[in-house]
Amino acid sequence: MKAIVIHAAKDLRIERREAETLGAGQVRVALEIGGICGSDLHYYRHGGFGPVRLKEPMILGHEVSGRILECSGDVGALRVGERVAISPSRPCRACRYCLEGMPNQCLNMRFYGSAMPFPHIQGAFRQELVADASQCAPAGHLSAEEAAMAEPLSVCLHATRRAGGMVGKSVLVTGCGPIGALCVLAARRAGADRIVATDLGPFPLSIAKQVSADETLDMAADPKALERFGAHKGTFDLLYECSGAAPALAAAIPAMRPGATIMQLGLGGDMSLPMQAITAKELTIKGSFRFHDEFFTAVSLMRKGLIDVRPLITHKFGLDDAVEAFETAGDRSRAMKAQIAF
Ligand SMILES: [Zn+2]
Ligand SMILES: [Zn+2]
Repeated sequence: MKAIVIHAAKDLRIERREAETLGAGQVRVALEIGGICGSDLHYYRHGGFGPVRLKEPMILGHEVSGRILECSGDVGALRVGERVAISPSRPCRACRYCLEGMPNQCLNMRFYGSAMPFPHIQGAFRQELVADASQCAPAGHLSAEEAAMAEPLSVCLHATRRAGGMVGKSVLVTGCGPIGALCVLAARRAGADRIVATDLGPFPLSIAKQVSADETLDMAADPKALERFGAHKGTFDLLYECSGAAPALAAAIPAMRPGATIMQLGLGGDMSLPMQAITAKELTIKGSFRFHDEFFTAVSLMRKGLIDVRPLITHKFGLDDAVEAFETAGDRSRAMKAQIAF
């Protein structure tokens, strides 16, 4: 089978790999679609992010869907031929954080396509994948493209769960790539009243609008666009910070109400924070990282038509055009989610 392997920054290759052996309680899946994530792009462009660096070739990818080819042992209700979304979250279920109900903080996490541990955890951009039955969520009538959006949607559902009560809240989303746009959808579904989204350019904002943002602000066109929300000590109860860019966070803080929460999702390396304002306004900063159970909620909400991710899916490429897919995925002026068909 073919796989998409990153060797170093800008060195992406299509290589042959041996098929994996199938164990009890596992399924073999013929992958249909893989979505390119911001982290995949970081490996492609820079060979890593922050302290995480590629030290050996690694198959990229963790946003995938496909059809079951083969089952072994007890795989519950899964059936050969069925389309599934595959969760890349593979906690050990035995370490202290797994036992404390924080599987996304697992000490031995084997999340697909991650260079955090060494040896790296090989990813899911390949024609066939062996997965545990417990990783697979039946996709029902969802397209393979939609099913492959379950992973980034799960990230946003996890952040929304960590944010707490959403009904009636005023929400600001900074950075409208796929995660920002999916946070708009998740906040709306959870009962947010007013949602304002920012980015640097019209294209991502046009999609934020399509997925129900009430107002969008192009911070490149008007760097002071958030200023009016700072009157009377601020407007927003919650910030989803999805850009990972210090200027976005700094511009947002004056617009937050006293007591507001900053939910940091963007991973852009270390940022300096306006601590004076954070202290005086009694803001709460929370990080949000990956997800676990939310994966099944994401698929369920999409299957019920309660969250529609289709406006985000802008590009599809064949496996052999992977380099073009990665180049396109990084172009924020025209791409939201670029996917690869296997
Ligand atoms: Zn992702
Ligand atoms: Zn664990």
